[in-house]
Amino acid sequence: MPEFLAIPIKSSSLTYEPYQFSGESYFFWLWRVEIDGEVFSKTMSPIQASDARVERYGCTNCGVAGDGTGFYAVRRLGGRVVWIYEELLDFETVREFENLPEFFVFDRNDYGAMLGAGSDAELPELTMSEMRTLILRYLPPASLGLYINPECPYDPSGSALLKHVHLVLSGSGDITPVSEPPERPIEIRIGLDLPGAPECCWFVGKNDAGTCAMFAAFPKLPCWLGGQQIATAFDTPGIERLLPQGEN
Ligand SMILES: [Zn+2]
Repeated sequence: MPEFLAIPIKSSSLTYEPYQFSGESYFFWLWRVEIDGEVFSKTMSPIQASDARVERYGCTNCGVAGDGTGFYAVRRLGGRVVWIYEELLDFETVREFENLPEFFVFDRNDYGAMLGAGSDAELPELTMSEMRTLILRYLPPASLGLYINPECPYDPSGSALLKHVHLVLSGSGDITPVSEPPERPIEIRIGLDLPGAPECCWFVGKNDAGTCAMFAAFPKLPCWLGGQQIATAFDTPGIERLLPQGEN
């Protein structure tokens, strides 16, 4: 049995407390919601597992769903459910990298069980264009690269790789989830010049179909990806020299 790397992206937990809110002329229900133990919203509109759109701040005048603010798109991705700040899917919206709203990942089984009503099977799947948008949104600008691990003599800060991946994935082509993960992938980390010194954490390897990559942090997308653009992005001499040779 070959050993495959489990996707190293933790699923978040979600808890909620419904309460009755007194609006202008009648009562309605709102939720106090915590994600991973931190307050996400004190006035969230009640949600079901089948809702493709959730409203972080429900309207406290009328309580009518859709009248509030802070919408998240809800999508299925393999065994996970993801919440994407809706505005980020629109490329016209300008957002500084340092102030991007968080992208949430939940376990699909937990999600349905936590919310009770509605089935997550009804949620739309994350599309290829949404995947591309998410990757590009959360891919750090090259100027933030501090170091790359494993070390690369031609690209000591990792900035060249950040720039290359951004350029390739901004073009047209296909990025597709792959069901067969690569054996013995390598891990690439790029230190970022941000508070707390976070790192990009990516995995790259080859399966029978070619080069695959997984973005575990900066950006974060819980699945293995393949396709022509992933190959172009990662078939670089710097990465080729790190991959195990002669197996495929
Ligand atoms: Zn209202």
